[in-house]
Amino acid sequence: MDLKRGSRAEAWVRYGEELGFGPYYRDRATAGRTTPQQIGDGGNSTSDYVPATEAVTETMMAAPRKAPAQTPAAKQAHAAPIAPAIVTPNLAPSLFDASERIEGDTLPLIREFIGNCTRCKLHKTRTNIVFGTGNMKAELVFVGEGPGHDEDLKGEPFVGRAGKLLTQMIEAMSLKREDVYICNVVKCRPPENRLPERDEIATCSPFLYRQIDVIRPKVVCCLGACSAQTLLQTTQGISKFRGEWFDFRGSKLIATYHPAYLLRNPPAKSEVWKDLQKVMAVLGLQPKRK
Ligand code: SF4
Repeated sequence: MDLKRGSRAEAWVRYGEELGFGPYYRDRATAGRTTPQQIGDGGNSTSDYVPATEAVTETMMAAPRKAPAQTPAAKQAHAAPIAPAIVTPNLAPSLFDASERIEGDTLPLIREFIGNCTRCKLHKTRTNIVFGTGNMKAELVFVGEGPGHDEDLKGEPFVGRAGKLLTQMIEAMSLKREDVYICNVVKCRPPENRLPERDEIATCSPFLYRQIDVIRPKVVCCLGACSAQTLLQTTQGISKFRGEWFDFRGSKLIATYHPAYLLRNPPAKSEVWKDLQKVMAVLGLQPKRK
């Protein structure tokens, strides 16, 4: 690492420590990866993110780390209706991979730890904390951006129009909503449905990491750019890596478009369906018969 890049990285580590985010910023020297960065188009659009400050560096613009290229045999198997697990690459630990799981952690403990949270400014305008819902042992976890109006009122993720579409997507995969786990990057609604800001994501996302660590799903499916960019530590637009597989804390991660985006752009549903079929192949699911 050159000196310029090193000093930037140190500044980010200090920033993370100030936010109480310390454990997630260890082993940076071995990570060879990106720093925490700003989040792009908010999880429900496909435009590339334009950084808002000069703090965004070339390292922060790095592409997300893909799962390794598959052999022809693996590709063939992946195309089959029931596909084997994807090969896990032997890569250096990432910023977040390097963090330790919390021994004995559970979803109720995480919720208890969050409490009546005032750690970031989103608490000022929320009605309810939207922690997450679904199967605590789910093989599939969907991660969205943050609660909207309906979710804020109800305290549950994805219960509005986009939520109904997500339910349809889940059922098309031959699953029920209660089979999967659904949560968001930030647990409180950003005012006027604006994008979560960098400090809000940095403060709240450790809860998400703990949730995923506890559930240990086979697949994490990011809905939209915000969750994908947060978990993959990239600022690339989601359209650049949508539908590709990545490794994330022992799970396979794939990003697809947010249901809210599909409501505005119905033709994109076919792309999302292709992504979901990849998820189904990994989970050994057959499409629902009509
Ligand atoms: Fe706390 Fe997260 Fe809500 Fe911010 S968004 S107040 S960190 S629960």
